[in-house]
Amino acid sequence: MASSSDLENIPSVDLMTELLRRMKCSTKPDKRLILVGPPGSGKGTQSPIIKDEYCLCHLATGDMLRAAAAAKTPLGLIAKEVMAKGELVSDELVVGIIDDAIKKPSCQKGFILDGFPRTVVQAEMLDQMLEKQGTKVDKVLNFEIDDSILEERITGRWIHPSSGRSYHTKFAPPKVPGVDDVTGEPLIQRKDDTAAVLKSRLEAFHKQTAPVIDYYSKKGVVAQLHAEKAPTEVTVEVQKVLSS
Ligand code: AMP
Repeated sequence: MASSSDLENIPSVDLMTELLRRMKCSTKPDKRLILVGPPGSGKGTQSPIIKDEYCLCHLATGDMLRAAAAAKTPLGLIAKEVMAKGELVSDELVVGIIDDAIKKPSCQKGFILDGFPRTVVQAEMLDQMLEKQGTKVDKVLNFEIDDSILEERITGRWIHPSSGRSYHTKFAPPKVPGVDDVTGEPLIQRKDDTAAVLKSRLEAFHKQTAPVIDYYSKKGVVAQLHAEKAPTEVTVEVQKVLSS
């Protein structure tokens, strides 16, 4: 726990901002959300907005696996090779990561799962995990979009790795090319954001992940979004779905 002398050194404006955030969060309902959609459908763009609005944690398995690969952990090294080919890593590996992550205090009011579950087996394992905690998935947001739009979105994408902020050379350029607007740090292009790897990633999506939508449709929790629309319009759709 922080001592009062630690708190003394924090500027008043930061303390007040955090206090207001906690007061706002205490009135929000718990939410356990899943975002499903192909690469480039806008899951990562909408996640931070939903996260701030509902005080949830944002768990993106792709980001977690890339961090593990960069840290050269044994798990990360296995994942790195699979990710480079655009295939899916094993169900056991990603379920283990999520099982640890959703127990963290930042997920107390619920979570946004972005890029997980990606197979029906993962969905079943997630449901079992939640059942043990006496909870369940509240909503699955289906980012529906035609494949033909995705290549331009993916090949023009630039990422700020530590925050997850993403830019696009044509649709959302940073103020200075190659540099994050907020921190001034360099942006990167993901190794798998090429037209060739996108092809395998889309194949994996249609074959292995599309059935996840059917799985949750049977439970009556899927909401459809028009993900080909501009990000601000998709945000309006998301807000409508989550407030109903
Ligand atoms: P993403 O950042 O969501 O596009 O994920 C990048 C890559 O990480 C994918 O192409 C997969 O190789 C791997 N990955 C991420 N999430 C999962 C998951 N839930 N199951 C299996 N593989 C995953």
